[in-house]
Amino acid sequence: MIFLVTDLDRTLLPNGPYADDKSIPELFKKLETVPHILCYATGRNLPMAQEAVRMWHIPLPDFLVAEVGTSLYRKSGNDLVTDTRWREYILSTQKNWSGEHIRSSLGTYDALTLQEEEKQNEFKISYYLSDHTKKDATLEIIHHTLAQESITAQVLWSIDPLADNVGLIDIIPATATKAGAVEFLRTKEGFEKEQTFYCGDSGNDILPLSRCYKSIVVKNAPEEVKEEVSKRVSDAKCTDNLYIATGTPTKNGNYASGIIEGLVHFGIITL
Ligand SMILES: [Mg+2]
Repeated sequence: MIFLVTDLDRTLLPNGPYADDKSIPELFKKLETVPHILCYATGRNLPMAQEAVRMWHIPLPDFLVAEVGTSLYRKSGNDLVTDTRWREYILSTQKNWSGEHIRSSLGTYDALTLQEEEKQNEFKISYYLSDHTKKDATLEIIHHTLAQESITAQVLWSIDPLADNVGLIDIIPATATKAGAVEFLRTKEGFEKEQTFYCGDSGNDILPLSRCYKSIVVKNAPEEVKEEVSKRVSDAKCTDNLYIATGTPTKNGNYASGIIEGLVHFGIITL
């Protein structure tokens, strides 16, 4: 039995600018003969993840780590339902967490605009920052505010891939990351690291890709992600557990094609 965890956008799903050799059906066909528990780990929220399942004809996963690790769902029949274990764990490790408090403390700072309600949850406070020149000053103010409230949080800054030059800021509990949620599930479900596979392509995959699971980086991942993951697994002395797809004569190594290449490399499936 393996625990197969994969990021969605630009890892399993071919929704980036790179060549797609349409390997999703082949991947899941090959997995039919491999006993496995399937988990998607994504920045998407539940409705957007369900939309991906419908649109790309991928299986409903056994588990869904959503909203960059701030929520966890498990399969129940043909549906995904909240896995309350994760919320309880986050709350038990983050006694001072209060989304309401963070919102009201930062509410008067006018460089920040709250994102739409559907992009927020109990453990994810998300803002737009339209003026990039204020990034450093804004992050400093946020960190200072959190410190005053004794809240240990991660402040994630990124650029909206869908909108020109809009900065995104997510404030989430220090434990509520993709990597944290995957590790939580792995231990709760009783999988060894050696049985756990993580497939990814971008910045928020670096941490789970560097945890000495069997890690697969798809070929279309940015060079800096490949370099950073290589460096981290080398420091952790588990380079044998990392595979970076390069493409083969029959597969281009991008997206699901790269996942197949990695699973072949680790001896889970054959071409
Ligand atoms: Mg991705």
